[in-house]
Amino acid sequence: MPCRRQKAEIRAIAIERIRRLFEMADYMFRVDPGLSNRYVELARRIAMRCRVRIPRDLRRRFCHNCYKFLVPGANCRVRIAKRREPHVAITCLECGNVMRLNLRGLRREGQR
Ligand SMILES: [Zn+2]
Repeated sequence: MPCRRQKAEIRAIAIERIRRLFEMADYMFRVDPGLSNRYVELARRIAMRCRVRIPRDLRRRFCHNCYKFLVPGANCRVRIAKRREPHVAITCLECGNVMRLNLRGLRREGQR
């Protein structure tokens, strides 16, 4: 069983790897979208194994229903809606799933 400090280190490395995988997914999408989806799968596995959350800015880069890598203008649609709670709606064009990101909540937390 790793001690607390080791765990923190493992998690830091995990997040680093997740970021790298998403970078690669972005880079490879034009060449081979299948590979991008594979990178998302690997990133999710690292996140689960090391019990870390995928960073907020990366969570919108893949579909939470079919887990495909999403690129606006290619396989997802991004719309902002001001009615009710202002939010961004990301529609996955692979499976039709809609993810809604609340804008008000984001601003309050002072994060992206
Ligand atoms: Zn999807």
